[in-house]
Amino acid sequence: MKIARVNVNTEDTIYEEISENSKYFLLGGRGLSSRIIADEVPPLGDPLSEKNKLIIATGLLTGSPFPCSGRTSVGGKSPLTGGIKEANVGGRPSIMLASFGIRALVLEGKSPKLKFMFIDKEGIKFDSAEKHEGSGNYQLYKDLYKKYGKRIGIYSIGPAGEHLMKAASVAANDIEGYPSRHAARGGLGAVMGSKKIKAIIIFPSKSSEVRISDRKKFREVLKPFAIELAESKKNFSIYGTPNMVRGINAYGGLPTKNFRMGSYDKAIEISGEKLHELVTARGGRKRVPCSPTCVIKCSNIFVDEKGKHLTSSLEYETIFANGSNLLIENLDHIARIDHLCDDVGIDTIEFGVTMGVAMDAGEIPWGDAERVFELLREIRKGSEIGKIYGNGVCHLGENLNYKRIPHVKGQGISGYDPRVFKAMSITYATSPMGADHTSGAAIPGRVASQTKDYGELTENKGKLDLSYELQLYTAVLDSMGCCYFIGPSWENMEIITGALNAMYNIDLKREDVLKIGKQIIKNEIEFNDKAGISQDVNDLPPFFREESLESKDLIVTFSKKEFQNFWQKLDE
Ligand code: SF4
Repeated sequence: MKIARVNVNTEDTIYEEISENSKYFLLGGRGLSSRIIADEVPPLGDPLSEKNKLIIATGLLTGSPFPCSGRTSVGGKSPLTGGIKEANVGGRPSIMLASFGIRALVLEGKSPKLKFMFIDKEGIKFDSAEKHEGSGNYQLYKDLYKKYGKRIGIYSIGPAGEHLMKAASVAANDIEGYPSRHAARGGLGAVMGSKKIKAIIIFPSKSSEVRISDRKKFREVLKPFAIELAESKKNFSIYGTPNMVRGINAYGGLPTKNFRMGSYDKAIEISGEKLHELVTARGGRKRVPCSPTCVIKCSNIFVDEKGKHLTSSLEYETIFANGSNLLIENLDHIARIDHLCDDVGIDTIEFGVTMGVAMDAGEIPWGDAERVFELLREIRKGSEIGKIYGNGVCHLGENLNYKRIPHVKGQGISGYDPRVFKAMSITYATSPMGADHTSGAAIPGRVASQTKDYGELTENKGKLDLSYELQLYTAVLDSMGCCYFIGPSWENMEIITGALNAMYNIDLKREDVLKIGKQIIKNEIEFNDKAGISQDVNDLPPFFREESLESKDLIVTFSKKEFQNFWQKLDE
């Protein structure tokens, strides 16, 4: 496998083989992108300058049949947080990239003109994308399929990325071909926009350069794991992530009305059960895999009353951010917001949290979906008002001089109120990525080891360990190219170790794999430190300590010191 360093201005590519002696050996996905950023990107530089790099990395297991291993890590210095960033995404292109032997694309420099980048067996080429300037992702994909056929893989940006908005995403096409998967968090779409790359188009290859040293051993590891995953996640497959709406609401931790409440009296209207009912009645689809090796298949295709595709996949995070958080109770309206965000190329979480603050500050009436649609049209145009709402929740807060902002390190908080979900409060406060639930998602019922007691959901007991272990194991999964729904756990680290050993003909122990995870987080912390985001910044906004949730009488109970000292464990 190799790294392709692409200068987007000169259009030259330098390939770097990853041999066993390479410093990049056994680094993939987030591990590889974070290492390259830490080594090569100036921590104090402007994220939109040519000195920043956009890394598009496949995982160590990507291209193999290992379950749910087809994800891409997109990395760079984040325009939103100013720190290191990795956002990962499913879809079609990651396995296609790996099949050409590419572990990572490193986009360097800055092009003066909007371009497409093409990858095929001949190498990497460019062409003008100026005719597609301002194009939404949906139209862009239609045009690209018409010209290059339906089997291509695509990473792209929408107008928000072209306008360099700090909440802009990098889109990827799903198996059906829709631009529905997004490396959404942290504004990496703006980094791609700053390099003037509208899309990276990957042609299908006839064979794959991904090699598995010991196929028999590899099969012995993955087969029982894949069967167990498919069986244990059956319910999750049927209802998908929206299945959590009712549960999180019942716990009193469903962010509602800009995190002023933890439960929504209309939660049933935006629940997984309601979504299931609508999708089934209208002829949409459930149990959809977002990328080829997925065995869980948690995605859905949401159609309108006439059976026409509206969005895919409608997820819990989008539903909370643009539903309960805004008091929008209509799933069709939320699906429309999701479609527009995907088309414009903007993070649905950051956007919804931004709208929540706008409504809280009295700029927009609560529940006004029409106004939300209008603002997405302004973001598409790149108008002055669009820029106010497309640059993240802190940017809006500064603009309105409004202080009650649910964010950590400049990134909007996602769909689990940190006053209720104690381990999640730690993950939000301490992740080098900012308020990112995916970096250590301590959702109800999740444990990091089957044999340990992590205490009750709303008590502090055991939660420092839980968040630490989940964050560590997730860093490992993110480096494998694996979806975190396979489970960041002590037990699964053994499965990953077995798969790596069989694939790369090595003899690692579980502890060695965990060392890789620890080093990833150390690299990220070190970069952030140099970028001025020290461990002192680890905290949640004061209102989470001052305002108890009316239904639960709960506040954030970990001290700032506990958050600041959290990562000392990495050196133990
Ligand atoms: S479990 Fe869901 S998010 Fe993960 S790879 Fe499968 S479809 Fe995609």
